[in-house]
Amino acid sequence: MFQAASKAFFHTLAGSAVLKRMASRYGLRRDTSFARRFIAGETVEEAIEAARAIERSGLAQTLDLLGESVSSIAEADTATRAYLSVIDSIVAAGIGRNISLKLTQLGLSIDRATCVDNLRRILDVSSKHGFFVRIDMENSPFTQVTIDIFETMWQQEYRNVGTVLQSCLPRSLDDARRMNELGARVRIVKGAYKEPRKVAYQDKAQVDAAFVEISKLLLSDGTYPAIATHDPAMIAAVRTHAATQGITPDRFEFQMLYGIRRDLQTTLRAEGFNVRVYVPFGREWFPYFMRRLGERPANITFVARAILTER
Ligand SMILES: Cc1cc2nc3c(=O)[nH]c(=O)nc-3n(C[C@H](O)[C@H](O)[C@H](O)COP(=O)(O)OP(=O)(O)OC[C@H]3O[C@@H](n4cnc5c(N)ncnc54)[C@H](O)[C@@H]3O)c2cc1C
Repeated sequence: MFQAASKAFFHTLAGSAVLKRMASRYGLRRDTSFARRFIAGETVEEAIEAARAIERSGLAQTLDLLGESVSSIAEADTATRAYLSVIDSIVAAGIGRNISLKLTQLGLSIDRATCVDNLRRILDVSSKHGFFVRIDMENSPFTQVTIDIFETMWQQEYRNVGTVLQSCLPRSLDDARRMNELGARVRIVKGAYKEPRKVAYQDKAQVDAAFVEISKLLLSDGTYPAIATHDPAMIAAVRTHAATQGITPDRFEFQMLYGIRRDLQTTLRAEGFNVRVYVPFGREWFPYFMRRLGERPANITFVARAILTER
């Protein structure tokens, strides 16, 4: 209940141009600035540096060039080129080849065909270089179209691509079955967006129960699923299921966000599990940052204190 209200509140704030301007000025200004906890930096060089540190500690990474809901075809093209350049930088740096992206960044809310073309441009180059590309899942108006576009790509024999399902949506159980049939790789998450009652569970217990159910399905019948959560109860349920079903740790990975539960990331790795850290970077960090605040009210105190010292 509180979590839903908190998500809604931060969703509203995320739309504030004034707040965005203020935050952008101070958020990443110094190494100690408040947004640095969740965002690796504004440039690809900073992201690569963060990725190197992650890999040195034995964890894998996926880089996410932040940006969403572009408002013109020209902006979608700019975002696509930016991703192609990130791919080049990753290859040159010699770090793990794994990226995450959002379809609205590639123009989905303006023109679906343009978005598909842009995605194909990225998949063509990334498959040539052995990348895995994860299509992040956005809010529910985009669920079906994201899955449709993913399936179009899959039917066209792109295999270096996977998508994300959100356990807050009751439909995701069927979507998971479908992905298992295809043999596609799924990242399961709880869901970061404030969603209406008619499409999503509002009760955390239901979201959690669905997370466990879908994770089990993906672990037992799916292809190298990514269990993306910081929730110790979810992680324990997944571990128990894997152990009792004889599913070895090389058949799945845990994923967590940059800057969140670093202790748990390293502990799981030390226990022999694959762990991948999602590393967001770029100038358009504000909406992502606000979603992280909305997930955990304690973050607000942390940020408020940091802003006061910053100025
Ligand atoms: C790798 C990865 C990729 C993701 N991709 C997507 C996506 O494509 N689409 C989408 O809708 N969502 C995505 N998410 C976000 C996800 O949906 C959840 O909003 C987010 O992970 C918080 O849920 P939780 O499972 O950690 O559990 P929660 O029940 O929210 O949290 C469990 C515990 O984790 C810690 N924690 C969680 N969030 C925070 C935070 N922001 N700050 C500090 N501590 C925190 C706290 O200790 C908390 O008690 C992704 C998450 C991860 C880890």
